[in-house]
Amino acid sequence: MAIEALAKPVNAWCPHCEPGRGCAIYASRPAECESFACLWLVNDLLDARWKPSRSKLVLTTSEDGIEVRCDPGFPDAWRNEPYAGDIRAWAAEGETNDMTVVVIVGQRMILVTPDREFDLGIVGPDERIVRELEGTKVVGATVVKESDLDAGSAKGAAPTA
Ligand code: SF4
Repeated sequence: MAIEALAKPVNAWCPHCEPGRGCAIYASRPAECESFACLWLVNDLLDARWKPSRSKLVLTTSEDGIEVRCDPGFPDAWRNEPYAGDIRAWAAEGETNDMTVVVIVGQRMILVTPDREFDLGIVGPDERIVRELEGTKVVGATVVKESDLDAGSAKGAAPTA
């Protein structure tokens, strides 16, 4: 994720990260790092298998649902079990709760629904995912510029990366 205080863009290593060890400036890390907690840290339902260093996945929430960030070095990690099954289950729950589940690999985004996935390619920070719904079922998904979004049209899912 981007760290504004460090001018660190999304999908770039933090200069303070020491792989295999951790944060070199942990005691004085920026406030946005200090306040960040992935879902694995705060949700007891996610067991040790979901620990990011093991799963290669970082879970966060957005205003629209759940974001599953996949280590680009392991782009298919989310397809392994138990992750794929849990992601599908969240997608099924999301279909009834108007909540999206998006897998993010680098800049590529994949909208996951109970019975299919929509590979949306690269989605920029100024773009939004717009779902086409039949009832609660997602039957299509496209990417549009946020500025082109017509208020009150199809529901947009906002990437937060
Ligand atoms: S916690 Fe430390 S290593 Fe991680 S992004 Fe913040 S400053 Fe960088």
